[in-house]
Amino acid sequence: MSTESRYETVIGLEIHTQLATRSKIFCGCPNRFGSPPNTQICPVCAAFPGVLPVINKAVLDMAIMTGLALQGEIRTLNEFSRKNYFYPDLPAGYQISQFELPIVEHGFLMIEPEGGARKRIGITRAHMEVDAGKNLHEGIVGASWVDLNRTGTPLLEIVTEPDLRSAAETGAFLKKLRGLVRHLGVCDGNMEEGSFRCDANVSVRRRGETRLGTRAEIKNLNSIRNVMRAIDYEVERQIDLIEAGEKVIQETRLWDANQNHTRTMRGKEEAHDYRYFPEPDLPPVVLTVERIEAIRKRMPELPDEKLIRFQKDYGLGEYDAGVLTADREMADYFEAAVMAARPAEAKSVANWVTVELLGRLNREGMELGQSPVVAEALGKLTRMIHEGIISGKIAKTVFGHMWDGAGDPARIVEEKGLVQVSDQGAIEAEVDRILAAHPDKIAQYRSGKVQLLGFFVGEIMKAMRGKANPGVVNGLLKSKLDG
Ligand code: ADP
Ligand code: MG
Ligand code: ZN
Repeated sequence: MSTESRYETVIGLEIHTQLATRSKIFCGCPNRFGSPPNTQICPVCAAFPGVLPVINKAVLDMAIMTGLALQGEIRTLNEFSRKNYFYPDLPAGYQISQFELPIVEHGFLMIEPEGGARKRIGITRAHMEVDAGKNLHEGIVGASWVDLNRTGTPLLEIVTEPDLRSAAETGAFLKKLRGLVRHLGVCDGNMEEGSFRCDANVSVRRRGETRLGTRAEIKNLNSIRNVMRAIDYEVERQIDLIEAGEKVIQETRLWDANQNHTRTMRGKEEAHDYRYFPEPDLPPVVLTVERIEAIRKRMPELPDEKLIRFQKDYGLGEYDAGVLTADREMADYFEAAVMAARPAEAKSVANWVTVELLGRLNREGMELGQSPVVAEALGKLTRMIHEGIISGKIAKTVFGHMWDGAGDPARIVEEKGLVQVSDQGAIEAEVDRILAAHPDKIAQYRSGKVQLLGFFVGEIMKAMRGKANPGVVNGLLKSKLDG
């Protein structure tokens, strides 16, 4: 057994999702990314003496919706706490957060890691809190600037159980969660802009050990790929330490994507370091059962529900259904394409979307939203195959033209003269010509080399520039060779 395989990796995540409300959590300032520094602030954002926070109801609704989607319990009596610490981008000297009584508890999310079995990842809690501003260090010598635009941005911090066992599972979890919050419209999931931030708690232990090992908390992870790389690095570092007879220290470490390693940032703080106490400026928030149920009613269909429906209604396999429900945009694209085709053709629509379209988008490094081929056009294309107007092979040529901006498949087929030839007479003439040219192959076929059928089909297709209806070609060939 290799050294690595004698250890088990344990990972728990803390994810800060910025809620996509129009205004901030405790004041009326716009909740917007990318404005010039300090242009989206007010006395509340800047924590002037005497200002009072007022809770934004949209934050509560989004937190409830996310909690329901994570199958969690929603707390009806919510209180806020002050988490005290000093940092220049936090003018109040404390963060308003939820401490012992978070709005969401005991949820879970199912993940489908690549090549692995479906697995349930527990969600310990999710709580509302306020984001801090940003310190700017670039382009300034001997000083730092503070941009308070981000102060007051609502966050929902989602904390998982230490249920993840590898970088791959963690990647699958983050993709699934990001897809979910985007689907609900509560967060744009943009890791580069910091609206979906993940800290990874990583530890290792010898296989068979039931107690958790000492963890390191890794910060500064701005993409799923970096989260996975950081975990791989950290696991190796910890195993090396233990193998060398040393101890893993509980601490916060920073991921450095350029150096490809993690390094110590600070010792891990404990809750008492923050001197939490109830926030005196905010009254408790009472959520009625009616309100929670009303949100449940207007929630969009969840990705996991869609996954089951796509398999049932469209006859798709779990893999295809998974790809097509990975995000809402993809699912909507697929369903719009099926509408333009026919429900019975859903399987081939799925094929065209997952193989041709996604393949092409991947190769070109493009997102679905940038696809030059719209859903309706792709649906129409599939429909033309099923109606026998074009063959699957010609359809790929037509798809190429659609990609290049030629638009409507029917017009392309018309203009380029690609209509499939189904006319018995025309095809039969070709069949006869090809057969007459290959008496040797006919003899071989009749003496048992039946795979030669493919050769004849190929020759006829070539002669007819791929436009012959393959069903008719096959039928005619068989009747002439076997009959
Ligand atoms: P804190 O708020 O101090 O960071 P928590 O106890 O709330 O600590 O845990 C935060 C995260 O760390 C959770 O996702 C939890 O699952 C994870 N975690 C806790 N202990 C470990 C461990 N030994 N190894 C890996 N992850 C852990
Ligand atoms: Mg933590
Ligand atoms: Zn403000």
